Amino acid sequence: MNGMQRMNPDEHPDVSGKEVKDIVAFGRKCAKGAFPNPTRAGCPDHARLRAMAHRDPSLTLADLPITHVVRCSPCFHDYLSFRRMSLFVLGLQITVASLILATVFVSAVLLVRNRSSDPGEPSISQRKEVLSEPSRGDTKPQPAIPVPPLHLEIDLAAFSPTRGDEKEAPRKPIRLPQRNLRITFEMPLGMEGGEYRFQLKDSSGAVYSHTRARGHITDGTTSVDVDLDLTGTPRGKATLMIRPPGLSWRSYPSIIE
Ligand SMILES: [Zn+2]
Repeated sequence: MNGMQRMNPDEHPDVSGKEVKDIVAFGRKCAKGAFPNPTRAGCPDHARLRAMAHRDPSLTLADLPITHVVRCSPCFHDYLSFRRMSLFVLGLQITVASLILATVFVSAVLLVRNRSSDPGEPSISQRKEVLSEPSRGDTKPQPAIPVPPLHLEIDLAAFSPTRGDEKEAPRKPIRLPQRNLRITFEMPLGMEGGEYRFQLKDSSGAVYSHTRARGHITDGTTSVDVDLDLTGTPRGKATLMIRPPGLSWRSYPSIIE
């Protein structure tokens, strides 16, 4: 007890709060099982540890048995459990306080709502509707309401890819609407699960968009779900590039329409 009150030679009286935190963080990492002290030699009493864990403002830094705690696993363990307990209690208090605040807020909102929809003054809500109706018609750019993606299923087995300089008779292009798309590609037989990469290029070879997605196998067929937002991409010929896991890129002629 006596030894604890006095400063150790390696303890600095002007330790900052940040340093205390560092010490505790460091201690957390290495002191948990590193300093067994079965006889609890030189250990401070529980009250002091608890006060330290609860950040008792009446304690000065010199009163805190920090240097002991980070060198004594049993004390460190006790400190951590006091600390956890205090954080838990603190958390509860915060939750209760925010719950009360939220309740007050909600009832205030309800009160205001009830007032404005009070049968005594119906004109307010009616006027609002009248005002908002024409403005809906003439304002062109609506505030961006997220449009749910259009879901497409494309069976790639029906489209033949080009590899290298292979030239073929006209092939059926993949038609892609110029919209926000979620495409489920059904891969040709033999394609494996794993990471697929996708690119969409225009006729000059510039990449509009690229993404990657995982293939999953159901009933022997591999399918890949890909989100491709084509809103704003120019209409016309394009090339859809797909790279199955472990294989080279395949290109599929496409049309954005
Ligand atoms: Zn101890």
